[in-house]
Amino acid sequence: MGETKPLLSVVVPAYNEEAVLGQFHARLGAVFDSLPDYRCEVVYVNDGSRDRTQAIIDALCNADPRTASVDLSRNFGKEIAMTAGLDHAHGDWVVLIDADLQDPPELIPALLAKAAEGYDTVYARRTHRDGESAAKKATAAVFYRLMDHLSGKVRIPRDTGDFRLMSRRSVDALLKLREQHRFMKGLFAWIGFPSTALEYRRDPRAAGDTKFNYWKLWNFALEGITSFTIGPLKIATYLGVTTAALAFLYGLWIVAKTLLWGENVQGYPTIMVTMLFLGGVQLFFIGVLGEYLGRIFDETKGRPLYFAQGWRPARQSPALPLQ
Ligand code: UDP
Ligand code: MG
Repeated sequence: MGETKPLLSVVVPAYNEEAVLGQFHARLGAVFDSLPDYRCEVVYVNDGSRDRTQAIIDALCNADPRTASVDLSRNFGKEIAMTAGLDHAHGDWVVLIDADLQDPPELIPALLAKAAEGYDTVYARRTHRDGESAAKKATAAVFYRLMDHLSGKVRIPRDTGDFRLMSRRSVDALLKLREQHRFMKGLFAWIGFPSTALEYRRDPRAAGDTKFNYWKLWNFALEGITSFTIGPLKIATYLGVTTAALAFLYGLWIVAKTLLWGENVQGYPTIMVTMLFLGGVQLFFIGVLGEYLGRIFDETKGRPLYFAQGWRPARQSPALPLQ
């Protein structure tokens, strides 16, 4: 007997990851074995996979008592899958990690060591992104810089993914935020608490395909912007004020001109250009308004974030101290 060792939970969202889960678990298991000062559990969240992911998770649960599983009722997306995992993780420390081995599990001891210096969150910052196209790197770079400008007081760290270690109190804080539109990078930053970065090299996917195409990434960026800033609405306001002011001056000029020199009906191009331009600007900002309105609509419904159709806790009860 002895005092209870701290529990480390590792939360892994998995969507159609049959090709890589076995390999992932083997590597994670080796990392667990190298952490004698912690009790460890891994929580796999099957995010409505259409392949054998859940069967593999079940087999892992049977084979390894440190394994827990949450089986969502359909595909809810990575952000909600992670939340479901956090809901079911008991750890004093919780790691969020991708199943595809792009985030090396071997970094976890280093994350724990860094946290011991007095941090609640240690996020892994990528220094390289191997195996990702130049276009993806470029769009990611633009996105992080844009968010930086728009998000004001809440500083969203650049070039960090979801791979991170969090203390119990920061996980509890995060779980209090139950909004439907979960832009996790923003939520992580919003809760605050001391946090720091650990640099690492991001590996290419070990197997299987990325689940994120450009359309998804675009929507992700929209999500990030609209759920974290009302910047675009402000742009609409200022653009509107400027246009109105210019239109007023131009109106004065036309009136003066007509009074002084009369008018022999001209100006078809001016009218067309002005109309089309204003029409375009207005439609665009109605769209922007719509993005926010849609989100308000979703939030007001107050639905639960997800439904799970199955849950298996780790058999090696996290509540019991190990000998
Ligand atoms: N994922 C998920 N639900 C989804 C899409 C992805 O749980 O709807 C998981 C996926 O299984 C992986 C992680 O999120 O563990 C990251 O996905 P992926 O590697 O496809 O994204 P990328 O690394 O290309 O950004
Ligand atoms: Mg990946």
